[in-house]
Formats: sequence, structure tokens, C-alpha cells
Amino acid sequence: MELCTLTALELGGMIRRGEVSPREAARAALDRMAGEQPRNNAFITTLDEKAVLEQAEAVERRLAAGEALSPLAGVPMGLKDNICTRGVKTSCASRILGEFAPPYDATLAERLRDAGGVLLGKLNMDEFAMGSTSETSWYGPARNPWDLERVPGGSSGGAAAAVAAGECWYAVGSDTGGSIRQPASYCGVTGMKPTYGTVSRYGLIAYASSLDQMGPIARSAADCAAVLDLVMGRDRRDGTSLDAPCGRLLEGLTGDIRGLRVGLPADCFGEGLEGEVRDAVLAAAGVLRERGAVVEECALPIMKYVVPAYYIIASAEASSNLSRFDGVKYGWRAEGYEDLTGLYNKTRTEGFGPEVKRRILLGTFVLSAGYYDAYYKKALQVKAAIKRAYDTAFERYDLLLTPVAPSTAPRLGESLGDPLKMYLSDIYTVPLNLAGLPGLSMPCGFDSKGMPIGAQLIGPALGEAKVLGAAHAFQLETDYHKKAPAGKEAE
Ligand code: GLN
Repeated sequence: MELCTLTALELGGMIRRGEVSPREAARAALDRMAGEQPRNNAFITTLDEKAVLEQAEAVERRLAAGEALSPLAGVPMGLKDNICTRGVKTSCASRILGEFAPPYDATLAERLRDAGGVLLGKLNMDEFAMGSTSETSWYGPARNPWDLERVPGGSSGGAAAAVAAGECWYAVGSDTGGSIRQPASYCGVTGMKPTYGTVSRYGLIAYASSLDQMGPIARSAADCAAVLDLVMGRDRRDGTSLDAPCGRLLEGLTGDIRGLRVGLPADCFGEGLEGEVRDAVLAAAGVLRERGAVVEECALPIMKYVVPAYYIIASAEASSNLSRFDGVKYGWRAEGYEDLTGLYNKTRTEGFGPEVKRRILLGTFVLSAGYYDAYYKKALQVKAAIKRAYDTAFERYDLLLTPVAPSTAPRLGESLGDPLKMYLSDIYTVPLNLAGLPGLSMPCGFDSKGMPIGAQLIGPALGEAKVLGAAHAFQLETDYHKKAPAGKEAE
């Protein structure tokens, strides 16, 4: 049996029933990674065989001792390289962090280990999670397993590529403006950003703290629910983490969506959207309707403001968060400086790539005394208006359905020359981060080049169960999520 084509829950079930051992699962992942990594560069750091097998053996011992672990115990996984892992290099895909190996684990990494997770390595990404293609990595671009000449999306591109290529059964990425959902869409896998505050950010290296949120990328919505059940919940080490009822998402998946009210915002289906993407997302709406949902067109009259507001707020927070990287506290330090200012200057000049510098400059500008009111304050007002527009929509609807991105994955190199165009492609994903809402990307078709298309389900705050429920119902009816790049088909 080809273990690599199973979902995380299927593999977890076989492990629990004793049909596959955690060591066999780890071995299958290591073999697959050995073949795929040179092609898609999905990982920045891979743990060596011994380190992976030791974790698997530890899970075996716990299972043998009768410990009740999770449905995902023994299932190998990867973490985006901005999630701190004790003793394992965590680079944010930036030169400036050098060989930095954190002295502590992110809360999420700790919870997954407690639940029997087996870490394979750290996944490639855009530098400091800034980007939509995973091309700005200091470690070279990750590539899309469906077409190695195309990008896997970003910034969690390595995470989506690794799952699509069958190197791991699930991965955790971070999403500040779409970085889980958009790469999931480009790579034909399922990804979810939960409500802001539901997953502790302790140990996630900050990009824009008020927008950052971690979440799963996996084959199916059920797998995403299983991961979220393990990592959600209050953490006293993150002051913004919510004390809300979390968990039990997996057991809530019934497949029954009769009477669910789904709004299709007309503002998300207009100019700029590729015809094939539009048709596939509308066809997904048809599938939900066939299963009993009530789907109708609605308005979301804020779309033209979301990208400018996002890039002002995200850059402002980034400029402040990234001031800690100065060559003194962490990672890498430039050589040949004359004094302290020279050390800062040279380290930051050589340590950050062009996209990160662009954001730091933009953020410093919008926060400067003369422009604060005109840009930053204005953007915060727009953010409040965006939140109100969603509140209004959710008075009538349980969920909204939109595209994830205006197009499928572009070719490598196509986007870097025109940052503004790349920013605009984030239009459907960034408003959820500004409003703090949960969103999921699910595979819903392929374009004429054979590249995957994703549809986005959006829920009200803490509406994870509804979002996952609708995605699960969709996946019971369709098999897009079961498709794998050539040669890796699930049976
Ligand atoms: N593409 C967006 C940006 O570059 C979103 C990135 C993210 O979600 N981390 O900021």
C-alpha cells in the first residue's frame, strides 16, 4: 500500500489499529522526501533519519504503554520555518537569522508533540512570510509539484508543496493575509486559517502580530479539523489567545448542510478574476446547493479598500517587529563593520532581502509623524469598516463563498518584477485577516493547464465548525482533493 496517498486521518487510523507502525510511516515519509526535495525544495531543513525515527519510536512506546494519544499520533508532519522548534534551526527563510536554533518550542509545536506528532523538518516560505510565491526565500524558491516551473504560492509555499507531493500528511503554516489559503489553492490541497486568537502565537516569529495566525494544510477538511482540535485553545503565553470553546471540530463533521445559508459576494466575482477560476468556484456553489445549502448572491462593498488597508497595516507592524533583527541578539552578523551603527546597518543591509526591505521602508513611512494620520490611522478606520461589512453579511448568511486567488499558480519569476500586481492578487484573502475571521481553501477544479483551483469558505468569528462542515460536505461529493500530481494519484 502506498502510504503517501492516504489522508492524515487514514494513516492515523491504521497506526492506531496496529496495521502500520509510526516507524514505517516515518520511513515512508523519509523515502518520499529523498525523491521530492531535490525537485521542489519544499523544506529548508530536514531532520536527519535518526532524529525522525527516534520521535516515531517514542510514539510507539507511548502507544504500547496504552497512552490515549490523538487520532494523528505517529503521523509525520512539517512546520513552516517561522515556527520555533527547540534546537532545530528556524530561519524564516531569511539570511539574517543564520543558523538560529530557538531555545524553546512554540506552543503549537509542543502541543503537536504531546499529541504524538512526528516532525520531519521545517518548510520553505517567503522571507519573513512576506510574499505570495515562496520565491523570496534565501534558500531558493519552493516549486509547485503540479508543475515545477510554477510557484507553489506563498508564503507557506513549502508547506503546501510538501503535502501535495506526499512528503508529509499535514503541515502547519501561518497566514497574515492569505499565506495558508493561497498556497493550498495553488497546490490542490486544503488549508485553513482559523479565527484570530484561537491558536496561540507563542513561538511564531511575528510578521504583523494583529493579523498573524497559524493553521493546518492537509489533504482534506477532516484532516484540518483533526489538527485544529490539537492546537486550538487558550495559552497564557499569548495575551491575544482566546478563552473560547475550541476543539471537537472533527466529531462535529456530519456532512449535513441542509438549510445552510451561503452568500456569494458579487464583488468577488468581477473584474480581474480569471474565467476558469470563476467557473470552478461557481460550480462549487452548485455542489453545496445540491447538498441542500441555500446559496444566493450578496454584496460585500468593501473589496476595493482591502488591499491598500492590509499593506499599510501589515507593513507598519512588520517595520516594528523586524527591528529586533540587528545582528546582536539572534542569528547572523555581517563582517567588517566599524562601530555599532555600522554593525546594524551592514547586518540589516546584507541580511534582509528586497521584499522585506520594501515593507520595512513602507511601514516606517506610514508610521512617521507627518503621515501617521493620513495612512496608518486611515487604514485602521478602513479595517473597522471591513469588519462591519462582514458583520452585516453574517446577519443573513452562515458562510460566504469566494475565490481564493484571481488566478492559478503563475510561472516562477513572473511575479517578482511587479510587486504591486502581486499585492493585488491577495484581494480575496486579506480581508479575513483584517476582520479576524476563519477561512478555508478547498480544491474545486483545474484550469486548462492542469493547475489546481481553490474555493474559499468564510465564516463568522469562531465559526470554524460551520466552515469545516461545509468543506467536508463538499469533499464527500467531489474528489478534487484526492487528486495528486502525476505519478502520485490516490487510488
Ligand atoms: N501575500 C501577503 C503578504 O505578502 C500575505 C502573506 C502572509 O499571509 N504571510 O503580506
